[in-house]
Amino acid sequence: MNKNIISLENIAVSFDGEKILNDINLDIKDKEFVTFLGPSGCGKTTTLRIIGGFLKPDSGIVRFDGKEINNIPPYKRNVNTVFQRYALFPHLNVYDNIAFGLKIKKFSDKEIQKRVGAMLELVNLKGFEKRSIDRLSGGQQQRVAIARALVNEPKVLLLDEPLGALDLKLRKDMQTELKKIQKEVGITFIFVTHDQEEALALSDKVVVMADGKIQQAGKPEDIYKVPENAFVADFIGESNIFDAKMVGDCRLSIHGVEFGCKENFPLGDHVEAVIRPESVILCPAGEGKIQGKVHSSVFKGTFHEIVIYSGKSEIVAQNEEAIEAGTKVGIDIKPQGIHVMPYNQNIN
Ligand code: ATP
Repeated sequence: MNKNIISLENIAVSFDGEKILNDINLDIKDKEFVTFLGPSGCGKTTTLRIIGGFLKPDSGIVRFDGKEINNIPPYKRNVNTVFQRYALFPHLNVYDNIAFGLKIKKFSDKEIQKRVGAMLELVNLKGFEKRSIDRLSGGQQQRVAIARALVNEPKVLLLDEPLGALDLKLRKDMQTELKKIQKEVGITFIFVTHDQEEALALSDKVVVMADGKIQQAGKPEDIYKVPENAFVADFIGESNIFDAKMVGDCRLSIHGVEFGCKENFPLGDHVEAVIRPESVILCPAGEGKIQGKVHSSVFKGTFHEIVIYSGKSEIVAQNEEAIEAGTKVGIDIKPQGIHVMPYNQNIN
């Protein structure tokens, strides 16, 4: 297991008397791809700025490789940042943009040539050295920004919504590219996004944040399959979340209907059941444990999203085929499709 490269211990920050970060504790490993994910305003960028040294926490300790760095200024930290708006120098060409930091540090021309050449190769921009920045596409500008940050050979790269300005297709391509670059340079990437699909696709560890707190940190699969609270379940992918009650050994009741489930809680406990749309099994009317009526059916590219009304409940399912609104259907859910959480563990 790799060592911790960044550790945040009990970090708190307030702006104008309002708590923005509240007791943040997090270990980030060497060579890990970590993503901060959460809704706008939850404190992702603030956490990144604390790691970069652009903001001092009101309390708590920031460690780099085990040593406290609270009072170390940004330029002395072995960390570089790629900003959403890239912040490239418009009057310099690609080569000079990437070489800028090395020239300031008075590296020899030969060393600069060697390092910039390696970076151009890494980000797939060989041959673009003399191109001016305003003649590059958004994706190419993004690559220059990454090369410029990596040329200083940091141990940690901070990326603040770096793909936010790109269109969907380019964004997907750059996701693959970023992952490849991270593997190749073998350093830690700390990435900020509010796009859950992007976070799940890229990361070794996803840190879900809301209201200045870490709601859950873990592997993408665990975050998706075993959310620790209703906020995470709701924020990561589509989910059906129901109030339920434990009525036996690995058995619960949702609105009076009994189901088997994989997690066990004490008999009589009030719990929340998370059921992903792909775990909802649709069957002919009269079959299955619940009966309902299709409210809507929307094509989502690889499946149809079917919304079903059953009594006062709404259930979202996925189906290969469209189902006409008004069609009566039966619904079944297997025990492995139901994830149970303690009630009221959400953030409100
Ligand atoms: P987004 O996805 O919109 O960038 P975020 O999760 O990165 O959001 P932050 O930029 O960390 O959120 O901001 C968290 C909260 O702190 C917001 O409510 C923001 O308005 C507030 N905030 C950030 N910086 C300052 C500042 N310098 N002064 C006052 N309030 C600030």
